[in-house]
Amino acid sequence: MEVLYKSTRGGQEGIPASSAIIQGIAEDGGLFVPNAIPQLQEPLETLQSLSYQELAYEIMKYFFTDFTEKELRDCIEGAYDPKFDTPSIAPVVSTAKGSFLELFHGPTLAFKDMALSILPYLLKTAVHKQQLDKEIVILTATSGDTGKAALEGFADVEGTKIIVFFPEDGVSPVQKQQMVTQKGDNTYVIGIQGNFDDAQSGVKAIFTDPSFQEQLAQKGYMFSSANSINIGRLVPQIVYYFYGYFQMVKENKIALGDPLHVAVPTGNFGNILAAYYAKTMGLPIEKLLCASNDNKVLYDFFETGVYDQDREFFVTISPSMDILISSNLERLLYHMSGEEPVQVKEWMQQLNQQGKYQITKEMQEKLKTFYGGYTTQEQTREGIKEVFEQTGYLMDPHTAVAYQVYHQYQSEHQGGIPTLIVSTASPYKFTKSVMESLDPKYSQWDDFVLIEKMHQLSKVAIPETIKDLEQAPILHKTVCQKEKMKEEVAHILGI
Ligand SMILES: *Cc1c(COP(=O)(O)O)cnc(C)c1O
Repeated sequence: MEVLYKSTRGGQEGIPASSAIIQGIAEDGGLFVPNAIPQLQEPLETLQSLSYQELAYEIMKYFFTDFTEKELRDCIEGAYDPKFDTPSIAPVVSTAKGSFLELFHGPTLAFKDMALSILPYLLKTAVHKQQLDKEIVILTATSGDTGKAALEGFADVEGTKIIVFFPEDGVSPVQKQQMVTQKGDNTYVIGIQGNFDDAQSGVKAIFTDPSFQEQLAQKGYMFSSANSINIGRLVPQIVYYFYGYFQMVKENKIALGDPLHVAVPTGNFGNILAAYYAKTMGLPIEKLLCASNDNKVLYDFFETGVYDQDREFFVTISPSMDILISSNLERLLYHMSGEEPVQVKEWMQQLNQQGKYQITKEMQEKLKTFYGGYTTQEQTREGIKEVFEQTGYLMDPHTAVAYQVYHQYQSEHQGGIPTLIVSTASPYKFTKSVMESLDPKYSQWDDFVLIEKMHQLSKVAIPETIKDLEQAPILHKTVCQKEKMKEEVAHILGI
């Protein structure tokens, strides 16, 4: 059955998947959603023994119906290959303190790889299908994780170029080193003298400059975005919930068909929304535990029904969750409101103009599938230490947030339904915060020395990408003023 996409705000409908992927965001500012979330047609048994790649095809085929089987399988083969450091791609690791779905085995050691390794292939195929005959230029502003994952994904993908802007002094040493050593003839990495918001505003301004777009088109280029609201990022994330569920069955934690909770460390609401889609398709997920750090706008939302972004912003040790506007929540609102674009549009306008909106009691009731929880920085550190000392398993700070919220939920609820804790980054990516949580003395240590120490303590192999990082040649040295971003882009593209 053909699945077409429409905007959550009602401005566009009947859009094939390939166009929605190219467009990224709808013309009216809404997000693309399928006209109905597809229902699984086959029994779960038939999927449970599939490899990650085979399963990825069986799930994504429901959403990307205008891709041929060969096209979709080629995208999957290109993405989930040995650049992941384990053939299982997304393994479940069970410890005495919980089962963890590890989504950090890709090239940049964070869960963004699960989607950004396939997006370039989907995009390229989509452009080809639409016969656009243009070279795609991906333009991204990053606070750390997304930029590197996008660079890895697009590096040397024919017919694309990627330009990433990052705040010179606003990313971790490892994150910066990861980006400025990026290989690939089509990759461009530029530090800006400014913060992340400056980078983001600069990119938006370039995107929405019509005369620049025109010049670009004349040169045979078109802009696209690797932003997390792209449906081409959301759909690939559904796959690992199925895969994780089946591994829990294999490990005899549950029987096939039994309910399972998932606990997800949440920022932009993309990862947990994928879990909701998996549940809606027919995977027996019971509760979705939405875990926040001190930036607990989502926790408050689930508690009160009011989404209020007007609050203090905290910089935490789980920086990828330091977000006050969780863009993907708009999709959930759409589905939960009974697919009412007028209502969604009104809420989003209120958010834009007054910084907040309130949903109805009836909707709040429906949202009970979700459990909102949050954990402080101190608790996050304690979680890392506790789990390590009792089991030898070392969590990164984002995963630790989910772990603590899972704990809260367990202490409040009886019933013993097993939970899958989603692990979104390797501890090696946040070496300092993790080691400091084990012992404050490490705060004085050099980042790269700490990596060795972490290895000695945890016995987890140092990922290849980290090993090479310190010695890797710096390939990107450009730094520009925040006002000069457009000139840099023009220069790269020869405009
Ligand atoms: C992006 C990110 C998250 C948050 O995921 P969302 O889909 O934005 O909710 C959590 N942990 C890590 C390590 C991330 O990079």
